[in-house]
Amino acid sequence: MTKRNLRVFFLLPLHFCFLFCTEASQAFHILIDPGHGGTDRGAVYGSAKESQIVYQISEQLQKRLQTEGFQVSLTRGPSNGLSLKNRIEKSKNLKTDLYVSLHANAVADPRVKGFEYFFEPMTSNRIIDTTKSTKTLSQKEEVAEIFDDLKNQFRQRKSLNWAQKINEQLPGNIKQAPFYVITRADSPSLLIEVGFLSNPTESKKLMTANYQNEIAEKITKAISTYANQRRRIACAKDSNSQPSKDSASVTECDHTIEKITN
Ligand SMILES: [Zn+2]
Repeated sequence: MTKRNLRVFFLLPLHFCFLFCTEASQAFHILIDPGHGGTDRGAVYGSAKESQIVYQISEQLQKRLQTEGFQVSLTRGPSNGLSLKNRIEKSKNLKTDLYVSLHANAVADPRVKGFEYFFEPMTSNRIIDTTKSTKTLSQKEEVAEIFDDLKNQFRQRKSLNWAQKINEQLPGNIKQAPFYVITRADSPSLLIEVGFLSNPTESKKLMTANYQNEIAEKITKAISTYANQRRRIACAKDSNSQPSKDSASVTECDHTIEKITN
């Protein structure tokens, strides 16, 4: 084992504990980001406007998630726009646990329809070049870089897991793409395309309150399943405990019940 590996061997466990051990004590905070807004209306097909449709779905989603006990924030209001940078800053400032970006699709072929879920590609450019960095970095910086890299990989895996949960509720296509908001967010993040405005049937459906509600309901179910899984994992790390039954948020472990194996 090299000197560098030895240092990492002794210092990384401390960082691993930070990575895993804090999750159970945090409130589960979701940031919903309705795409576009303001003068940027996104895709527009007749009276169907992407910025308006995704905001209406976001509002429904916020209400449903709050009813389930989650803490929920929206990046923008019904009519204002917001830069991508400011959306991410908001996520970082609020230290949210999940980032949900909502958009609607449009392509030249009017037959194309359905949901699409985008998460950050697993081979991110954030992954460090260790051979290059070891020459100039201090021991502390070296460990911090490795820790950041690991944290990023865990975040990507959680994003995929979250994509799989929603795909069970609203079957579609799970894809990887380096979109700004999903690569810059610190929390697990997903960009959801709720349908194609270029498909006349889907476009009409997306403008109805019933269909918007149905989408919000299914996304809420997927988030609840994802959050409960995170709670089980977090509580299982705390021996002889499991999540309290009455809460939808990652807050409390019941220490009187046997340890859950996950
Ligand atoms: Zn869009």
